[in-house]
Amino acid sequence: MKTWSCIENCGACCKFDLTDRVGLSDKLSRNDINLIHSMTSKDGWCKHLDRSNMKCLIYDKRPHFCRVTEFTTSFKEYSENGDEFLIDCCKQHISTIYGKKSNEMQNFKMSISKK
Ligand code: SF4
Ligand code: SF4
Repeated sequence: MKTWSCIENCGACCKFDLTDRVGLSDKLSRNDINLIHSMTSKDGWCKHLDRSNMKCLIYDKRPHFCRVTEFTTSFKEYSENGDEFLIDCCKQHISTIYGKKSNEMQNFKMSISKK
């Protein structure tokens, strides 16, 4: 079984379009949604993402919904499929932002296949 891990220079999940994030509505409070709106730049990217290296500028203080391994444990799909669920989520984000044949997708696939 493949093991999920985040890759460097990605940040695909740091661009928000809540209409694309199906299944999140019951995981986010009104405060969370307001926070997401306040964090989102006009182009959809999080204001806390350093676009020069795609690193989070508030990593230690990032919101709970950005803490992948903690946040996803509340998803039924995670309890059923474990890391396969996380891997699918990342592939979906990466595909939407960079494309299915992007370097980011290749790097992600290589990363999970090395585990
Ligand atoms: S989409 Fe996945 S690999 Fe890319 S930054 Fe987010 S958690 Fe990491
Ligand atoms: S707070 Fe950090 S981890 Fe969360 S979306 Fe923004 S840049 Fe990404």
